[in-house]
Amino acid sequence: MKTVAVLGATGSIGASALDVIARHPDRFRAGALAAHRNVDALAALCARFKPDLAVIADASREADLRARLRVAGIATRVASGAQALIEAATLASCDTVIAAIVGAAGLESTLAAASAGKRLLLANKEAVVMAGPLLRAALDAGGGELLPIDSEHNAVFQCLPPARSGLDAAGVRRILLTASGGPFRGHKREALHDVTPARACAHPNWSMGRKISVDSATLMNKGLEVIEAHFLFDAPPERIEVVVHPQSIVHSMVEYADGSVLAQLGNPDMRTALAHALAWPERVAAGVAPLDLLKIARLDFEAPDRETFACLDLAYGALEQGGSAPIVLNAANEEAVAAFLDQGLAFVAIPQVIESTLEKVQGAPARTLPEVVDVDLTARRVAQRIIASAKV
Ligand code: NAD
Ligand code: MG
Repeated sequence: MKTVAVLGATGSIGASALDVIARHPDRFRAGALAAHRNVDALAALCARFKPDLAVIADASREADLRARLRVAGIATRVASGAQALIEAATLASCDTVIAAIVGAAGLESTLAAASAGKRLLLANKEAVVMAGPLLRAALDAGGGELLPIDSEHNAVFQCLPPARSGLDAAGVRRILLTASGGPFRGHKREALHDVTPARACAHPNWSMGRKISVDSATLMNKGLEVIEAHFLFDAPPERIEVVVHPQSIVHSMVEYADGSVLAQLGNPDMRTALAHALAWPERVAAGVAPLDLLKIARLDFEAPDRETFACLDLAYGALEQGGSAPIVLNAANEEAVAAFLDQGLAFVAIPQVIESTLEKVQGAPARTLPEVVDVDLTARRVAQRIIASAKV
C-alpha cells in the first residue's frame, strides 16, 4: 500500500493523479492533499479521499476550509501557508509525493520531498528548471527516487535502460522530445498578434492548466522540457532534439548508438504517466482507452518553427549559458504568461519580455535555495518593469 501526498490536488495533474489513485484502493491512498486557494474543490476532495492532512496555501482561507470539513464531519487535519506545504511534502505517513503545483510556487515543497527521501513524482517542471542541481543533491542526500510525470520525460525514462549509468555507458546517442506544436502550429508570427488567452489555452490534444497551455502555444513548454531533460537525464543540450509530432501519440524517443530508436506511445492522457510512476516497477490500469493505431492511421513529424516560436531557442540559449540563466528564463516567462492571461501583454511579446529580462539579469550559478529565490525575485521585478513599459 502506497500513501500519496498530492501537491496541486485541485489542478489538472492533481485530478488525473487522484483518478488513478481512486481506481486502486488496494494499492494507493491519498494521505495529504494541498491546493492554493480553492476551498470548494479541496473540501470536496477531502470528502472523497479522507486524507490525514489538507493544506490550503493561502492562509486567509484556512478558517473557511476548517469550517467546511467540520460541518461535513470530516476528520482531516487542516493547515495553511508555505510551511504547511513543506509539511505535506514530508509527512511521515506518505511515502510518495506528487509535485504538481504550477510554477516556482512548487519549488520548496518539491525540494523538501526529495530531501525527505520520498518517491517523488515530478510534474512541476519549473522546479527542475530553477534548481536542477539542488534537486539532484536533495535526492542523493534523501535517498529517494524521482519518477518523471511530464509525458515526454516519462517516455524517455521508459525507453532508457533501468540502470542509470550515464548516456554514453548506455549507448544513447540522443534524446528526441516530441512536441505537439500547440494550437498555433503552422502559423507565422504576423498571424499571432491578436491571439486571446482563450485561443492560446485551446490545446489541440491535451487538456491542461492555463499556464502550461500558454507555454505549449509559445513552445516555451518544450524549452522548459529541454532543460528538464538535461537535468533529469544528465544530457548535454546538443543531444536533446525537439521534433514536432502533431498527433501527440509518440510521447518521446531515445536514439541508441546502433541506430535503434525506442519510443513510448499512448493516447494523450496524463493518467498513463501517473499510473506508470505510481506503480513502478509494476504496471496498473490507468483508465486510459487502448491506443487504436488503425484509427490514428498516421504519425507525422516535422521540424519546429524556431523563428515564430522564439521561446524554444531562448530556452536552449539559457541552458547553454548556464549559471542562473534558466532561473531568469523561468521567472520572466511566468510573469509574461500571467500578464498575457490578464490581457496585459500581447502573445507575441512573451518571448521579447523573456529575452530582455535575460539580457538585464545575469548572475553566477545560484548554489543554495535562498540564492535561487533571490535570482527568481530579481528577474520577476525586471520582467514586470519590461511588461509595464511594453505596448500591449
Ligand atoms: P493547474 O493550473 O491545473 O493546477 C495547478 C495546481 O497548483 C492547483 O492545484 C493549484 O491549487 C496549485 N497551486 C498553484 N499555485 C499555488 C501556490 N502558490 N501554492 C500552492 N499550490 C498552488 O496546472 P497543471 O496543468 O495541473 O500543471 C501542474 C504542473 O504540472 C505544472 O508545473 C505543469 O507544467 C506540469 N505538467 C502538467 C501537465 C498537464 O497535462 N496538465 C503535463 C505535464 C506537466
Ligand atoms: Mg510535457
